[in-house]
Amino acid sequence: MKVYKFGGASIKDADSIKNVANILQQEGTNNCLLVVSAMGKMTNAFENIVNAYFDDEQKIQETILFVTNFHSEIAQNLFPENHKTHQEITILLGKIVGFLAQNKSKDYDYLYDQIVCYGELLATTILSSYLNHVGIENTWKDVRTLIKTDSIFRDATVNWEETEQQINSQIDSSKLTIVQGFLGGDSKGNTTTLGREGSDYTAGIFAYCLNADKVTIWKDVQGVLNADPRVFQETQLLEQISYEETIEMAFYGASVIHPKTIQPLQSKEIPLFVRSFINPDLKGTKISRGVAINPHIPCFIVKKNQVFISISTLDFSFMVEDNISHIFKLLHQYQLRVNLIQNSAISFSVCVDNKFNHFDAFYDSIKSSFKVSFVKEVDLYTVRHFTNETLNTIDQLGKSLITQINKETAQIVVKQN
Ligand code: ASP
Ligand code: MG
Repeated sequence: MKVYKFGGASIKDADSIKNVANILQQEGTNNCLLVVSAMGKMTNAFENIVNAYFDDEQKIQETILFVTNFHSEIAQNLFPENHKTHQEITILLGKIVGFLAQNKSKDYDYLYDQIVCYGELLATTILSSYLNHVGIENTWKDVRTLIKTDSIFRDATVNWEETEQQINSQIDSSKLTIVQGFLGGDSKGNTTTLGREGSDYTAGIFAYCLNADKVTIWKDVQGVLNADPRVFQETQLLEQISYEETIEMAFYGASVIHPKTIQPLQSKEIPLFVRSFINPDLKGTKISRGVAINPHIPCFIVKKNQVFISISTLDFSFMVEDNISHIFKLLHQYQLRVNLIQNSAISFSVCVDNKFNHFDAFYDSIKSSFKVSFVKEVDLYTVRHFTNETLNTIDQLGKSLITQINKETAQIVVKQN
């Protein structure tokens, strides 16, 4: 049994859907389960519907029209005029309008999941129909009856026992099945989601429950690279890495694979392959147990828009547990995610993510109790398997505010020139 995950970029238009069919023809479709996420950037487009519903009702129609046109156009390029898929798409889109008209809930997260799920439902409907249309027989399944979760909308937790039972009783592993990534269902019949980019995790869940031999995530890059090609000019393919290495890289912010994906695979030693849907003849990256990173080269991860904060006591007393715990409480309260910590006798420094733009509020609440200085808009570079040469290269990017070195990992906070 193998599990394949096709993400948004691999099904962003009619041609890419045809490409998926070609890949499947080449790879074979027996004993295969496909996990599919929303097409292209559709999840963002569905988020716009939710936001319009809450903030700007006049925009609802326009945002629904946008997703309608997107999917209809793709279907027009894939199917003859009177094919049943056109109607299936209309029905699914009609459900969004119907749901919004009847909804009374003001719970943003609940509504989000009930609307955004249509990205995956439409994508799998179109892909499944197209594959059947070109002779690749498959069964479409509603994943909300398979992956059972609690009711924490937008960040649901999987009920493994129930999920395993549903998957094993509903999936015929000798055939080709298509399911939606990212979605789950709670016990009350509501849709839940597993967090943005959660489709990788869905693939991990299915692989675990079905005791799959392998998982392949098809991406628009060759495999796992030693740096993000959107940030670094020269990147190299990692042919082989361990589960642990992947988790470490995700922890420091690499956006290779959704971090929750690895654990279920690791516990059953199911290898994960990352391959290119543009170049399916390439081998890609293999992630498996305990293997040495190959090639053994430095791996770079950069986090932008960080704030470097140095905090010391007003009376020059030591920085110890009680003031540090007070600081952490505030950091947590203002959703400033800590990416690096350095502590000395009288000062405590952290590099935080200012994703929610709450830094100024945090500063206002702390400045009367401590002496605080900060530098905004700094970059945090993390280098796994660093060499002196790589550290020098980063030093030259700007003024380095702090360098922290552990066994295999160096972290440097840089204020760009
Ligand atoms: N479509 C969802 C998202 O964009 C899930 C995924 O792509 O993995 O977040
Ligand atoms: Mg996506």
